[in-house]
Amino acid sequence: MALGLDRGEKAAQDAQQAFLQQLKRTFASLPREIPLLLFVQRGKEDVFVDACRQVVRAFRGLTDKITLKEYNLDHELAAKHNVDSSPTLLIDPDHYNIRWLGAPMGEEGRSFLEAMLLVGNGKADLGEQSLKVLDHLDGPRLVKIFVSPTCPYCPQQVVNGLKAAIQKPELVSLEIIDIQCRPDLADQYGAQSVPQAYANDVLIGQGAQQEEVFLSSLVKLAPQTIFIPESTEKVVHTDVVIVGGGPAGLTAGIYTERSGLRTAVIERDALGGQVALTPIVENYPGFTQVGGKTLVDIMVSHALQYVQIFQGEEVLDVKPGDPIEVTTTRRKFFTRTLLLATGANHRHLGVPGEQQFSGRGVSYCATCDGPLFKGRKVIMVGGGNSAVTEALYLKHMGVDVTLVHRRDRLRAQDVLANQLPAAGISIMYDTEIKAIEGREKVQRVRLINSKSGKSSDLAVDGVFIAIGYEPAVALARKIGVELNEEGYIKHDAFHRTNIPGIYSAGDVEGGYKQIVTATGQGAAAAMTIFEDLINPYWKMAEAS
Ligand code: NAP
Repeated sequence: MALGLDRGEKAAQDAQQAFLQQLKRTFASLPREIPLLLFVQRGKEDVFVDACRQVVRAFRGLTDKITLKEYNLDHELAAKHNVDSSPTLLIDPDHYNIRWLGAPMGEEGRSFLEAMLLVGNGKADLGEQSLKVLDHLDGPRLVKIFVSPTCPYCPQQVVNGLKAAIQKPELVSLEIIDIQCRPDLADQYGAQSVPQAYANDVLIGQGAQQEEVFLSSLVKLAPQTIFIPESTEKVVHTDVVIVGGGPAGLTAGIYTERSGLRTAVIERDALGGQVALTPIVENYPGFTQVGGKTLVDIMVSHALQYVQIFQGEEVLDVKPGDPIEVTTTRRKFFTRTLLLATGANHRHLGVPGEQQFSGRGVSYCATCDGPLFKGRKVIMVGGGNSAVTEALYLKHMGVDVTLVHRRDRLRAQDVLANQLPAAGISIMYDTEIKAIEGREKVQRVRLINSKSGKSSDLAVDGVFIAIGYEPAVALARKIGVELNEEGYIKHDAFHRTNIPGIYSAGDVEGGYKQIVTATGQGAAAAMTIFEDLINPYWKMAEAS
């Protein structure tokens, strides 16, 4: 046993030596010096200052390419580099804006090693897609990444920040902040978990992000969860073009690609359609409870395994024919079939003040805007599943919410409606909104009781509106696709429209408008398309 342990220890020592030798060789091959400037408060040295010196000393034992100069906080260089806390470590400040507030201890040793290698190489080593994303960066970004020495996920996020700062030194500055050394900053930013990344004081990432996702978040100054690669193709030839990246379109894409049909999904706005705005989904099989956006992310990741998604481009024109010509804001598609899965848009109340205060107290998305109304009073207008789900969501978030419904009965399913009393949400039945009023922002709503005819004012900070959807049929109308009397796309039992080669699926067809029915319609339409392409029904009709 003792012999076994000795052997094990020896093997570990050998492996460590081999690793150190390899590191030395790697450092020796670096083309550039790595100058470090350490700023400390002399006389008040603490554990972080000691640790910083030790880490740097250990690295300097591997290479003489790393140089260290130490200065007191009152040195003129501290003022020149805006350094005001101890310890602060600047990495190659003549070329980059990268600084460590604290010591690169524990897991952060890995981040520090990456920093040394990237700076020593003078290259960010970003992937092709990442470079394309970063090309869209149009202004300066001060990135702050909160980390801790015990967080194994932190180095990945730090490396993302390092690469951005090295690739775009003129635009990106990076501060890596150890929350143990700088709890004051962690408090100030409310960073209660690590890694947490901010750019220009906007939260852009919680947890470690994939490189491209981090960079998209950095460019857009908003946390992104999924990265869709950009395409530069000007003309795309496909078997199927799907317009709409909601559950119906994404499902159809998975099915058609898996049938061997080259498919493109085109989405003008955010992927996921209405589901992305639904706080919680409890009736999608396989998930007892899942956030709408999370469900969308899962669907999009799944779809991306198969199908190319063109997000952020709008279909401008469709010329039916064989092939069908689809012109978007970015390119042309020539396709054998077209599936319209354009979904539905929010219905508007159409009352005075609604448009004027949209984004200033009037909202159609509780998940997006709810947090802004925490501790404040709002009404939720509507009596369906959406209004009830969103009212519950707002209440649980700490918003004082009252449901306002035009009839004396809710349309929502009992399982949802029954939760309202327990949550302490009051309901104003038989009540219609006549006007939304205020100065800069919403201040009150004018109400009328449809039974008594009595008018009243209610002081509120916000008006959330969830009164259903109108089908998004502008494109269908333009192409000449027939609509039914309710304004939805008219289709046969196999999702074929009146125009050969053009199909429909999802909420734009009307019906139940559930996520599960939309995915089902997407799958069914995809299977019809597959069968029709083998044996086109319109050619059969022409022949007979
Ligand atoms: P909805 O079911 O059509 O309900 C719309 C509600 O808004 C109704 O209560 C309606 O009142 C009211 N309304 C319509 N126009 C109005 C107006 N001009 N002024 C005042 N009130 C008005 O719409 P939804 O709740 O958005 O749901 C849409 C679909 O998605 C439904 O099929 C729903 O089941 C589904 N959905 C499901 C879930 C879930 O299962 N978790 C969640 C959200 C949505 P009346 O009742 O008087 O007509």
